[in-house]
Amino acid sequence: MSSSKIPCTLVWLRQDLRLIDNPALFHAAKRGQLITVYIFDEDCSGKRRTGQACLWWLYHSLKSLRNQLSQWNIPLIVKSGKDAFTILKELLDSYNADAIYWNRCYEPFEYNRDCSIEEKLKMENVTVETYQDRVLFEPWTIKTAKGGPVQIYVHFWNQCLSLPQPRKPYDKPKFKNQTGCQSKCDEPAVWQRLAKLSQDMPMKLQDFWHPGEEQAISKLKSFIKNSLNAYAEKSQCLRLNTTSNLSPYLHFGEISPFTVWHSVRHASSSAEPPAVKSESLKQYLRSLGWREYTCHLLFHYPDLPQKCFRSSFEQLKLQVDPVKLQSWQQGNTGYPVVDAGMRQLSVAGIMPNRLRMIVASFLIKHLLVPWQKGEEWFWSKLIDADLAQNAFNWQWAAGSGPNACPYFRVFNPITQGEKFDADGYYVRKWIPELAALPNAYIHKPWEAPSTVLKKANIVLGKTYPRPIVQHKAARELALATFGQTKRKQ
Ligand code: FAD
Repeated sequence: MSSSKIPCTLVWLRQDLRLIDNPALFHAAKRGQLITVYIFDEDCSGKRRTGQACLWWLYHSLKSLRNQLSQWNIPLIVKSGKDAFTILKELLDSYNADAIYWNRCYEPFEYNRDCSIEEKLKMENVTVETYQDRVLFEPWTIKTAKGGPVQIYVHFWNQCLSLPQPRKPYDKPKFKNQTGCQSKCDEPAVWQRLAKLSQDMPMKLQDFWHPGEEQAISKLKSFIKNSLNAYAEKSQCLRLNTTSNLSPYLHFGEISPFTVWHSVRHASSSAEPPAVKSESLKQYLRSLGWREYTCHLLFHYPDLPQKCFRSSFEQLKLQVDPVKLQSWQQGNTGYPVVDAGMRQLSVAGIMPNRLRMIVASFLIKHLLVPWQKGEEWFWSKLIDADLAQNAFNWQWAAGSGPNACPYFRVFNPITQGEKFDADGYYVRKWIPELAALPNAYIHKPWEAPSTVLKKANIVLGKTYPRPIVQHKAARELALATFGQTKRKQ
């Protein structure tokens, strides 16, 4: 049944929950009347089920965008179901819409589904327009001389940098003539379900995060003003908030990589102080490059989240020790820097990149747990959980991925802590029971004399665990175990 006689455009929103630099919305707005839809696929047919922390973010992000759109009388309809084609077709019919626009996604399941939906809709005489949005360089634009995917990051990034600059961001759409297609197709039950899932969240995400486009822009501005200049020297330091913290906003598309790219470049070329050091700008763009690279890899290697990229690692057949795995998940390994990171993850849904590398190495190399177990845990807890970025980085830590950390690199959790959290600020913040321990022992409490432990109110094995493995022995075992992959290659 038609609810409106005026033809309109349906915009299918996915990982682009924003108004600024949203090409699909921008172009649809120029046509006139529009409605927007988000399809929540709880059953996740073929797609990984959304992680716990991300569900919370998704709900708040949708709410924020719905409020923004309602100012122009534009409905954001949230539907649930796995058959996206049928849902879209019904909406097109209900609203008498003759066109559908969306921004392209590149995860293999989504990409294939979208191609098939596009084909079917075109056969039904629906106008379909899709746009580049999620990445600066689409996965098929970067190739080896033979036309295949590029596996080495430096080669990938150099090729990206040799191409014309990514396009400039689009302005906010100029919505016109919105008579307010009432969202009679809305399903309040889906909103309620999302709200419930988000409320059931045991983490304290609301104390740390504010999803939404406005926050994303404000984070970017504050990063440019306060931290971009020192990014090259300080981005690994655990004490300071020196990185952009944009990862969840980029993941949900509350800000586009084009906006970030051009804003940081503009800041570095602007005459206004503080001038941004070129090395910091280069390194920050390189970080964005890792995001591009992981998307490229997942597009070409859809098994990346499940299977070792290097087959010799598949044969290792590591066993999961459930007790050790649980100690790691709960931040009770007895290595303060590892435990602080894991506790931050469980409470705030995030962890600095340096620490992600340390805890991943610890799980795989010290505890000999398959990387997939860590990837799954991160998936449920991270507010920026992203299929490509998470899978690639876990395979990097395991040594099994393309362009990975060599198998013999075993992060030392004591020296890493001493180097990147020299004054123990980070450990004290997330493990308050160690707060009174002097700096000399903050990353190795087991070496503290009993008088020092007593003064700090610490009873090892009671108030804080003893190390669950000895670093030296664990390292030797890891080298022997992972060394087998070398012989098999
Ligand atoms: P910044 O330093 O400000 O960097 C800017 C942006 O560049 C980030 O927001 C991110 O989009 C991208 N970026 C930076 N480093 C990397 C990297 N190594 N790989 C891919 N992209 C990168 N990042 C996620 O967004 N989602 C994940 O699920 C995820 N899982 C990870 C798992 C492990 C084991 C490791 C080692 C890293 C993982 N990362 C993941 C990458 C990285 O840790 C985060 O992107 C980064 O910490 C986010 O903080 P930021 O936004 O302040 O980063």
